[in-house]
Amino acid sequence: MKYTDRVSTIKVRLLEIAYICAGRMLHPFRRWLRSGGVVEKGFILLENVTKRPVFGCQMCGQCVLHNTGMTCPMNCPKNLRNGPCGGVRVDGNCEIIPTMQCVWVKAWNRSREMAVYGESILEIQPPLNHSLKGSSAWINHITSRDKENLGKFKA
Ligand code: SF4
Repeated sequence: MKYTDRVSTIKVRLLEIAYICAGRMLHPFRRWLRSGGVVEKGFILLENVTKRPVFGCQMCGQCVLHNTGMTCPMNCPKNLRNGPCGGVRVDGNCEIIPTMQCVWVKAWNRSREMAVYGESILEIQPPLNHSLKGSSAWINHITSRDKENLGKFKA
C-alpha cells in the first residue's frame, strides 16, 4: 500500500496554524453546517482535493490529524488510531510494509513540532464510527457528529 503524504514538505507548524485558523473561521457558521445536502457535498469535495493529496486522507469522517502530528492514522495498514502495534521494526518501519516508515513513528516525531496540539497525541481516541466514512470530517467535527454514538466510551 502506497499513500501520498506531503506533510514533510509543508511545515507541521504551518499546518497546525492553518488548522486553528480554519476552525475559528468556520465556527460562526456552524448553524448552517449540516450533514447531508449541498453544503456537505461541497465540503467533501474540498476535503478530497486538499486533505487527500496533502495527508493521504482516507475520508474516515472522524479526523484526528491535530492529535497525530498532522499524520493520517488511516494510512497505517492496520488503521490503528491509538499508537503503533508491537511490530514496528528497529529502523522505525512498518512490519506489514517494510519500506514504509511506521505512521506512528512519523506522528510522534511531527507532534514534537506542534506548539499547541503536540501533547494531544497522548489522548486516547474512541473507536472509529464507520458510518461516518465518506462524510465531511470538518462538518462532523463542528457539529460534534463525530462524538455521537460513542455509547459509554469516554476518551
Ligand atoms: S478525516 Fe480521517 S482519513 Fe482523513 S485525514 Fe483525517 S483522520 Fe485521516
